[in-house]
Amino acid sequence: MADFEPTSITGGGGDTVRCRYCGQLNRARTDGGQARCGRCRLTLSNEPHIKFADLDKHSYVHPLDSRSLAALRAIPGLDRAVTKLLNLTGEPFLNVIMMASAVRVTPLQCPDLYAKLQVACTTLGVDMPELYVMQSPVVNAFTYGVDRTIIVLFSGLLERLTDEEVLAVIAHEVGHIHAEHVLYLTAANLIMAIARGAITAAPISNLITQIISATMEAALKAWMRRAELSCDRAALLVTQDPDVIGRTMMKLSGGTYASRLDYQQFLQQARDFQKNYDDKALDRFWADIITSGLTHPFPVWRVSEILAWVESGEYERVLHGAEAESAAA
Ligand SMILES: [Zn+2]
Ligand SMILES: [Zn+2]
Repeated sequence: MADFEPTSITGGGGDTVRCRYCGQLNRARTDGGQARCGRCRLTLSNEPHIKFADLDKHSYVHPLDSRSLAALRAIPGLDRAVTKLLNLTGEPFLNVIMMASAVRVTPLQCPDLYAKLQVACTTLGVDMPELYVMQSPVVNAFTYGVDRTIIVLFSGLLERLTDEEVLAVIAHEVGHIHAEHVLYLTAANLIMAIARGAITAAPISNLITQIISATMEAALKAWMRRAELSCDRAALLVTQDPDVIGRTMMKLSGGTYASRLDYQQFLQQARDFQKNYDDKALDRFWADIITSGLTHPFPVWRVSEILAWVESGEYERVLHGAEAESAAA
């Protein structure tokens, strides 16, 4: 008797299932159908979900991310310029926008999203950031904030994705925190928001050109796209299912039309992409991405990179390294 934690849902008796993601006790379904956790809404199953005791970012950071980050850091005066930019413009400004126009996620407001954030943070070993949902048809999310880290999900994304796919997106954003991307990411997001006209307070755009040189801006944007590849891997380490990442990318790529796309064909397209590029073509590809100004211009490429990581055996090694760790603890 004392072995069981008291829980309201076990009141009627019968078997219980503990959610492998968030730990909530749920009453087992008797009809054999696919049940979801009452707290985080992710699928209940007897498969284990691995939590990392001490995940090293170097175990998953993509080599293209490390290389372009090194190039970025080699620019003289970069850190001083970025810090100055954020002090003058970024955080207080963005925080006002958030508080005024977005919904803050708490254990009482959108509790399943709060639970998913907790799942991502406990899996990767990251302190809980704040999470907001912003009304917008855009299928996107971003992370910013050096003093206070904030993740923002656009409502268009939540409307289109399944619970597992929402976890993947949140985990990708938590990955930016774990991989220590947030300082440069905030600067890059701010520069791009101003370029798109999303932030129209005039003095800010003038300040940016004074503080951030064209070289710094180009290097920040180049790195930002490559940093995505690392965080897709972090998302896989949380969902522990490559197909969840693949389907999320298909929806980012296909938009509302994604429900009519064939997932296997999409995977084949990603494999063809990986097979057909050479380094020269790749350079042109990145150059196009950087100049395109699109927020998510390369889902097929991102899936091809995730497939390559899984097929190299690296993903399994990182995952089972964690298992060995927790067994030894
Ligand atoms: Zn749960
Ligand atoms: Zn990202």
